[in-house]
Amino acid sequence: MTVHVIGAGVAGLAAALALVRGGQRVALHEAAPVAGGRCRALPDGTDNGTHALLGANRAALRFLVQIGAREGWVEPEPGGLPVLDLENGSARRVALSPLGWGDAARRPEGVTLGSLLALLRLALPGPDRSVADAFAHHPKLLRALVEPLTVAALNTPVGEASARRLGAVLRRLGGKGAARLLVARQGLGPDLVAPALATLACHGANLRTGSRLRGLVQEGGRVTGLDLGEAVQPIGPADAVVLALPPWEAVRLLPDLPVPTRHAPILNVHFNRLEEGPVRFLGLLGGLAQWVLVRPSGVSVTVSAADDSVGLNDSEAAARIWPEVREAALRFGLPGDWPVESPPARAVRERRATPRHGLNPPPAPPRRPLPNLALAGDWTLAALPATIEAAIRSGEAAAAALLSAQARQAVAA
Ligand SMILES: Cc1cc2nc3c(=O)[nH]c(=O)nc-3n(C[C@H](O)[C@H](O)[C@H](O)COP(=O)(O)OP(=O)(O)OC[C@H]3O[C@@H](n4cnc5c(N)ncnc54)[C@H](O)[C@@H]3O)c2cc1C
Repeated sequence: MTVHVIGAGVAGLAAALALVRGGQRVALHEAAPVAGGRCRALPDGTDNGTHALLGANRAALRFLVQIGAREGWVEPEPGGLPVLDLENGSARRVALSPLGWGDAARRPEGVTLGSLLALLRLALPGPDRSVADAFAHHPKLLRALVEPLTVAALNTPVGEASARRLGAVLRRLGGKGAARLLVARQGLGPDLVAPALATLACHGANLRTGSRLRGLVQEGGRVTGLDLGEAVQPIGPADAVVLALPPWEAVRLLPDLPVPTRHAPILNVHFNRLEEGPVRFLGLLGGLAQWVLVRPSGVSVTVSAADDSVGLNDSEAAARIWPEVREAALRFGLPGDWPVESPPARAVRERRATPRHGLNPPPAPPRRPLPNLALAGDWTLAALPATIEAAIRSGEAAAAALLSAQARQAVAA
């Protein structure tokens, strides 16, 4: 049997790896010139956007081990996240997990018995409401911790974001080491996509780029062919397909699928600042910049849920963000030169970075809508927000669904 995996984003790479490890022959098709999807290196090596993982992302960390890339992901701030509040000038290190708040110095502003209870209530069943409503009586904790976490994890403004979905994220931060924040030391190319492709190639699974699936040929309720433009790739009775596509592509090919239709942008601004030094990660409150990743190869700034700023041109974005970055770098004593004038910068705009995680999400789609076709993609898991973790779990679930169907068929035969 050959399994054709369509889409070489993280979900497709994870599906392909699980399938080759399960003994299948895999062909990987990707429409773009490179693999990685929304988590990729641009032609100059810059990441399309900063990607952070947490210790709670067990599937993602296991995947990194499987592709031999775990060492490339480092914890830049083991002593707590340095956070500068640009409005009131306070600079502190904040523990992301409540387990670290026993130390008053690492507690975010606004932690009181009442606000802790509001956090705990997120974990309890009940009708869903927006994060802003859930913390209406705790504006300090909302501003200092809950809003930055919501925007980072759900990429949705707090007035719209689902408190239930945030509760699912926070529950996962409770375990030991779960709130450790990790970033790629060099970048998404060398620390994720390239090792994944190399591992797949070792198992005989090669990637065909520039290969866009235009349509599915179906007969008798099964996929019998893939329209790849130049030719139709026949799908034999023992073959199968994984669609590891973003929702708008999945629904184009299978129009009855329930898919999220509203997406939120992320703006990333990359400053060319070449300077040796450790990898650092800072948080900012009260400005445009939210997270700042400092690496020897440059400084990358993230603005999530960027509805209001994604339209800024490169120089406007750099002019607004650089003074904020510089102030934070100086306050936390980051080494090197931080000139008043912005270094050359460019903005990368991912307009459909993730689905919006609001109230009343569409139901999760079936994992195997056709007997020989399984779905993967960060949007296909109901429990998790659209992240690397969700993408990897979805890819592994799609592979498992096809492998167990194949095993059942073998027993029946
Ligand atoms: C700027 C940014 C920052 C982010 N930050 C984080 C973060 O810090 N932590 C985190 O965990 N997550 C983060 N995410 C989310 C994460 O990147 C995504 O959840 C994940 O990459 C989705 O992977 P996927 O494989 O499901 O989808 P995609 O990456 O969209 O992969 C789908 C692939 O299918 C290809 N394709 C599309 N149509 C076709 C077709 N017809 N035929 C063949 N191929 C096709 C696409 O080119 C793409 O390569 C961020 C996303 C963005 C954009």
